[in-house]
Amino acid sequence: MTVQVQKLKMLINGEWLESSTGATTSIVDPSNNEPVADVPRGSKQEARAAVEAAHEALASPEWRDMDSAKRGRILTKLSTLVRENMDEMARLETLSQGKTLRESKGDVAWAARAFEYFAGLADKIEGETIPVPPKRLDYTLKEPLGVTVHIVPWNYPIAIAARSWAPALAAGNTVVVKPSETTPLTALKLGELSVKAGVPKGVVNVVTGSGAEVGSALVSDRKVDGIIFTGSSETGRQVMEAAAKNVTHVLLELGGKNPHIVFPDADLGRAVRYVKDGIFTNAGQMCWAGSRAFIHESVYDGFVKDLVAKTKTMRLGPGMEESSEMGPVVSRSRQETILGYVKDGIQEGAKLMCGGNQPAEPRLRSGNFVEPTIFEEVTGEMKIGCEEIFGPVLSITKFRTTDEVVSMANETEYGLYAGVWTKDLKTAHDMASRLQAGVVTINEFLITFPSTPFGGYKESGIGHENGIETLRHYTRTKNVSVNLN
Ligand code: NDP
Repeated sequence: MTVQVQKLKMLINGEWLESSTGATTSIVDPSNNEPVADVPRGSKQEARAAVEAAHEALASPEWRDMDSAKRGRILTKLSTLVRENMDEMARLETLSQGKTLRESKGDVAWAARAFEYFAGLADKIEGETIPVPPKRLDYTLKEPLGVTVHIVPWNYPIAIAARSWAPALAAGNTVVVKPSETTPLTALKLGELSVKAGVPKGVVNVVTGSGAEVGSALVSDRKVDGIIFTGSSETGRQVMEAAAKNVTHVLLELGGKNPHIVFPDADLGRAVRYVKDGIFTNAGQMCWAGSRAFIHESVYDGFVKDLVAKTKTMRLGPGMEESSEMGPVVSRSRQETILGYVKDGIQEGAKLMCGGNQPAEPRLRSGNFVEPTIFEEVTGEMKIGCEEIFGPVLSITKFRTTDEVVSMANETEYGLYAGVWTKDLKTAHDMASRLQAGVVTINEFLITFPSTPFGGYKESGIGHENGIETLRHYTRTKNVSVNLN
């Protein structure tokens, strides 16, 4: 398929601009590494201009004094526009990120729902009155935090942008979004739709460019009041250091090494399907990937045999092809990193059950494909057993007792997500309380709603995205104390 290379601009202060240096970045299709778009390669200058625009817009009466119900109506309109543009946005996502069109459509639908959910909360952000000694009135005001910077990674470009963009606007903030340099297309489209929905000038800015230049300039800017970062723990630490210098509020969503725990009484057919999808969706490039599966010894052999057989029949192919069940990974360097982990696994003595290579099909050689890969006999000391691979590689381990599996599941530095497979209520709730993870799912996996909190324990992050709870990251509390004497 021939794709016309689009020339795009970035959105700063209501205007569509090129980079002041004139530099551009070529966005490529991960299924063949052919160019699909040219995007401005922003510099520190654009980062500063965007923060300045957001800072001014914050004080403009048009935004500051807007009825919160009207903010909600703008977000509702944005949600409708995202739904109306679903096909185009899904296509843009697949062309630059590689995931299948079916997955992209799911992500766009999720983004639309996020705007709809937070639209409904815009006029329900309430302070309280607090009982104090007589002849006094004490109350709190919930004010917008201010200018929020959103650093969005490349694995879920539209969904991760929407999940912070929506609550930020609902609470009356002004935003500067920096999509990943690899996958900026849907964020730019979301910028266009925000303007169409009625967001005033400067309230939404989308700056394209690298994390090293634009990202670091944004998170170090003194005029920024909040940073919402999703990405690696290593970059998260750098962001936090930069934020500490200006005492800027941070919300971090970092990595995961998430366990499935399959008890013998589970619906094993269903568990096999979800364990497979839990690692091979989005070619495994997910902070919430189920990258470790602990299977009880009494059902181990049959479970692994079924899982490996089903994995071997998966169809790899370009995300744009309807028959593809798994697309490529986002870049050549990711492909190399993942295949490096496979080598480490073999060297460290894990048993490779399937996959582990680039596919042999000649038509897939120009893309960044990695076969769906399963290892068994993996221990927590092996690199593949403890590091976040961020690719289609599953580690399987056998367990005997509940105490043993809880200890293995909790032994990583991460604590984002965990799946428990059992029909026994007592086991399910016992595991939910003992697992160190911000989200525990029972008999389901890869499920999160805009209304349910999502955030990590340990090195998986700080704070929560989604749900009413996330609004506390986008508001400040002011206490007003009135003497009535
Ligand atoms: P990074 O953490 O480096 O990138 C995530 C985001 O941060 C991108 O938008 C990136 O921009 C930006 N960024 C990079 N450096 C800075 C900086 N100094 N200041 C501000 N922003 C910055 O991840 P990588 O893309 O390098 O991926 C490496 C690993 O990170 C993956 O293998 C995976 O383990 C993990 N990861 C986790 C994600 C998650 O969902 N939790 C998402 C993505 C990665 P740009 O891409 O333009 O450089």
